Amino acid sequence: MCELLVGLPDVNVDGVGDWPGWLRIAITSRASRPLCPGCAGRVWGHGRVEVELVDLPCFGRRTRLVWSKQRRRCPNPNCGVVTFVESDDRIATERAGMTDRAGRWATFQVGHHGRAVSEVAADLGCDWHTVMDAVNHHGRPLIDDPNRIGKTVAVGLDEVLFCRSGKFKRRCWSTQVVDVARGQLLDIVPGRDAASCCRWFAAQPDEWVDGIVWATLDLSGSYRSVFDTMLPHAIQIADPFHVVKLANFVLDEVRRRVQNETLGHRGRKTDPLYRSRKLMTIAHERLDDESNLKLVGLLEAGDPRGEVRNAWHAKEVVRSIYAIDGPETAVEFVSQLGIDLQDDSCPPEIRRLGRTITKWRQQIAAWHQARFTNGPTEAVNNLIKRVKRVAFGITNWTNYRTRSLLYAGKPDWTILGINPR
Ligand SMILES: [Zn+2]
Repeated sequence: MCELLVGLPDVNVDGVGDWPGWLRIAITSRASRPLCPGCAGRVWGHGRVEVELVDLPCFGRRTRLVWSKQRRRCPNPNCGVVTFVESDDRIATERAGMTDRAGRWATFQVGHHGRAVSEVAADLGCDWHTVMDAVNHHGRPLIDDPNRIGKTVAVGLDEVLFCRSGKFKRRCWSTQVVDVARGQLLDIVPGRDAASCCRWFAAQPDEWVDGIVWATLDLSGSYRSVFDTMLPHAIQIADPFHVVKLANFVLDEVRRRVQNETLGHRGRKTDPLYRSRKLMTIAHERLDDESNLKLVGLLEAGDPRGEVRNAWHAKEVVRSIYAIDGPETAVEFVSQLGIDLQDDSCPPEIRRLGRTITKWRQQIAAWHQARFTNGPTEAVNNLIKRVKRVAFGITNWTNYRTRSLLYAGKPDWTILGINPR
C-alpha cells in the first residue's frame, strides 16, 4: 500500500517518519546488481549513501524522499572506475536536489501559472535555487522543442525592457520576436539593435524564414533594417496604433508650442488650448454636438494662426487612413497625404510628420492588404511584464528567457507528461 502511495517504479518503501518540517519517506531501489560502467565486469557492494530529495507535498505535508543508494566498487585493478553510486533518472537526475516529478511540477507552476519561484519553493519547503535549477533543467526541452515554433506567416518585433543594471541603473533592453498571427512569443533576443535580431533570424532554418509573408513593426528604423536584411521577401506592415499615436503626439507638440508663443507660459487650467487638449485626442466622430462646439470655440480663442486646428485636422486625416477600403486606394491616399502634409503652409511639426509618412508610406498602406497589427506583440509584452513583476525583477538573462518563453511561448507541456487543461 505504501509503495502504491509513493508511486515510484521499482522501489521498496522502507519507512515513513514524521519529521518536524516534513514527512520523511525512506526508499531503496529494487534494481538488480549492475555491471561496472568501466569494464562491464562484476562489482562488489561498498556500503550505502543517503540522498535526500525534495518531493511533491503528500496529503498537504511537505515531503522529503530519502533514497538509500547502494555504492559499489569495481575489483578490477586495471579499471578506471573505483566506486560508483546507483542512479535512476525515473526518480531523480543525478545531482538534482529534487525528484523528477517534483521538478516537472515546479516547472509547470512557474512556467504555466506564472507563479513566483519563491512561492513554489515555499510550497515544497526548499531553497529558491533548487526550484529555479529544476525550471531551467525541465524547461529547456520545452523551449528548444522544434515543433513549438511551427510554421509562421506573420512575425512582429517589439522592444521590451529587461532590467536596470549597474551603478547608474542603466536600462538593458531585449527584443521579442512574436508570431502575430497566433499571438505566440517565439523568442527573446538580448538588445534592441538590428545586429542581434539579424543574428537570431540567421540562426533559424531557411524554410521557416522563407515561409514568413508579413512582418509587423512600430515605426522603428532598426527593426525595419532587420526586416530589410533578413526578410527581404516579407511585406512590412507599420502598426496602425503607432501611426495614429505619432499623429497625436505631433498635435500635442503643436498645441504646446502655440500655447507658449501666444501666452508665454505653459498651459494653465483656464487657458483655452490647455482645456481643449483632451477633446482633441478624442476621435472626431465620437464627439457629440456640444463637445464639438466647445472644441471649435476653444480653438478659436486660443489658436489665432490656425496651427493647432491644422494639426488636429492632420491627425484626423491620418486616422482616416484606416477607414479606406482597398489596398490600391490606400497606397495612393497615403502617398498623397505625405506630400500634402509637407506643404509650406503647414507648421514645422506637421511637415516632419509628412516626411515620416512619406518614408513609411509602403508599410502604412500595407496594413490594408492583410490587416495584421503589432497588437499581439503588445499582448505578449504584457505577459512578459507580468513575469518580471511576479519575480520583482529579473537580472539573470537565462532565467528571464526561460520564464518568459514558458509563460508566453506556448510550449507543449505534454513533453513533461503534464496536461495543461
Ligand atoms: Zn570496472
